[in-house]
Amino acid sequence: MAPVPDPQVVRGYLLFARVVAWITVVAGLLIVAGWQAGATDLAALFIGPRPIRLATGAGFIAGGTALLCAVSESLVARRLRWPLALLVLMLGAQSLLEHLGILDTGLRHLPLVGRTASFDAAMPPIVSIFFVNLGLYAGTQGRLGDNWIAAMLALAMLGTAMAALAAQGVSAAAGAESILSPATPGAAALLFANAIGWIAARPASRLCAVAAAQGYGGFVARRLLLPAMLLPLAWGWLIQWARDRLGVDDALLIALSGLVTGGSVAILVWWVARLSGHIQYQRSRTAVLAGIANTDVLSGLANRRAFDAELPARLHELRTDNRGFSLLLLDADRFKAYNDDFGHPAGDDALRGMGRLLHQSLRPGDHAARIGGEEFAVLLSDADRHAARLAGERIRAAFAAHPWPRRAMTVSIGVAQVRPDDTATTLLGRADAALYEAKNSGRDRVVVAL
Ligand code: GH3
Ligand code: MG
Ligand code: MG
Repeated sequence: MAPVPDPQVVRGYLLFARVVAWITVVAGLLIVAGWQAGATDLAALFIGPRPIRLATGAGFIAGGTALLCAVSESLVARRLRWPLALLVLMLGAQSLLEHLGILDTGLRHLPLVGRTASFDAAMPPIVSIFFVNLGLYAGTQGRLGDNWIAAMLALAMLGTAMAALAAQGVSAAAGAESILSPATPGAAALLFANAIGWIAARPASRLCAVAAAQGYGGFVARRLLLPAMLLPLAWGWLIQWARDRLGVDDALLIALSGLVTGGSVAILVWWVARLSGHIQYQRSRTAVLAGIANTDVLSGLANRRAFDAELPARLHELRTDNRGFSLLLLDADRFKAYNDDFGHPAGDDALRGMGRLLHQSLRPGDHAARIGGEEFAVLLSDADRHAARLAGERIRAAFAAHPWPRRAMTVSIGVAQVRPDDTATTLLGRADAALYEAKNSGRDRVVVAL
């Protein structure tokens, strides 16, 4: 069952994506401009031990603009995101190749304007990986549809951003560059915001739909997802803090990490299992209640409510699948007198007996309901008026032959075959007229409407 998105939440998500896009573009412009003014000044703009590098700034400008285009109302702008996505992909890919030593564009030893020292202008490896992911996701977004490849790309983008954030937590003291060398905290936060922004830009996609959904599930997801994603950052910070300030041993920290990870997963599994059990219980209860709501207590047949829902459904089937059917209306003969002579409880017993008789004389696809005091309706699947007359005759004979406890009882039946242009009212009207005729012409008989 697909979750129904909450329109207000959807608007909020698109606004969030726009805000993230603008912040990203402005940050990118500041980084590039700041780099021109002297890289070290940039450290003041973004919290962190070192400046955000030039290539990262360029990626932010292209990526932020692509996100702005993706959530734009204008079709031209939405198309523009594809070349922009390609640009982000190329920026990330060239930087990644450079880090892997496959390519050398000189970006890693860029002399600054007006300075003699050379600076590393290439983006950190984790940022390159993020931009490759972002380029692939943004470039295929809307083309792949909402399939699992799109979801995997979005998850990879989110995972990279989370790794960049978590690396901040540990602050990756090691000086040596590795593929996971962290970005500055400001850049890592922007990566994370961009990953969520891109996912929020498609509220109907399977990845976002749960958190955009109406109802309790969406409510819980919106409150728990973000803290859960930020947990690695908090844990990384805590470990580093315990190590530096309390002097906790590395082996103990690793053991504790294992405990926390394993424990979290175990609690999650337990919680999901409990929730599934609860849902299953609710489903079975709903099924029981639906059964009660649609059953007539006295006869055990369907009640008026169920019949009123079934008839339009059959009429719909007639139009879509060309499945014909016939309607029988039954009314017990002189039932008032039966009640008067033997009392209401005896009348109720007779009604129970009628329910059983009707139930026994029908085929699996047929639908029998008690629609009034001693009136019943039967929908006969795939039956024309001749088949319906035979069925009605069979029921009438069964009533007449049944060994009723007090005295013999009979039933009058009106039959109508559905017509292509019938409504519930016209079909019921014809069957009712036929029943009326059956009553007037002496009862204990079947009359077919012409
Ligand atoms: P006819 O052959 O013309 O149908 O005569 P009738 O007496 O069956 O028709 P009428 O509609 O005048 O009477 C229906 C009677 O059914 C009235 C009432 O006493 C009885 N009845 C309706 N609902 C119930 C019920 O739930 N239990 C019992 N015991 N009797 C009911
Ligand atoms: Mg009646
Ligand atoms: Mg009657």
